[in-house]
Amino acid sequence: MATVFSHIAIPIGMYMALGGTKVPKSLMEAGALATVMADIDCLAFNFGIPYESQWGHRGFTHSIVMALAIGGLWAWRQKEELVKPWDVFFFTFICAMSHPILDAMTDGGLGIAFFWPFSTERYFLPVNPIPVSPIGPGFASLRGVQVFLTEIILIWIPCLFVGGTGFAIRKLLDKKKNRKT
Ligand SMILES: [Zn+2]
Repeated sequence: MATVFSHIAIPIGMYMALGGTKVPKSLMEAGALATVMADIDCLAFNFGIPYESQWGHRGFTHSIVMALAIGGLWAWRQKEELVKPWDVFFFTFICAMSHPILDAMTDGGLGIAFFWPFSTERYFLPVNPIPVSPIGPGFASLRGVQVFLTEIILIWIPCLFVGGTGFAIRKLLDKKKNRKT
């Protein structure tokens, strides 16, 4: 995995770009949770389920089907009246899907079972610039810190740049609209 903190950069960037009206706080929280849910499969190690199993780490919880299910669940359960269920679905689906995509860009571990349950084959993306994060207590180690610093450059800065650009464009458009009215 990329570190748990860095997955959250995706909804933060989207929130900055889209703004609080389209992405209210409750949706932002749902998106943040959706980005990290896939790694609940780390618990599989405690039950002796091997990494390479479809039920193991980077297996079924990292699939496209699971991201669709997370999006669907949130759209169904959403209580925010100002946001359309489809928007909730797309936001949480993109957040959930960003997790296995970032994992597939790491340089270690096994690949991602994107197409579970249709295929248990594991995949990486063709580019793997993100160093794999240690699993469990190793996260607090020196290597964990080095990994996080690299992720600041490879994940946080691009996400904040895209979010900041979206924010600036939104403000410019608002200004233009206000001038016309
Ligand atoms: Zn993961």
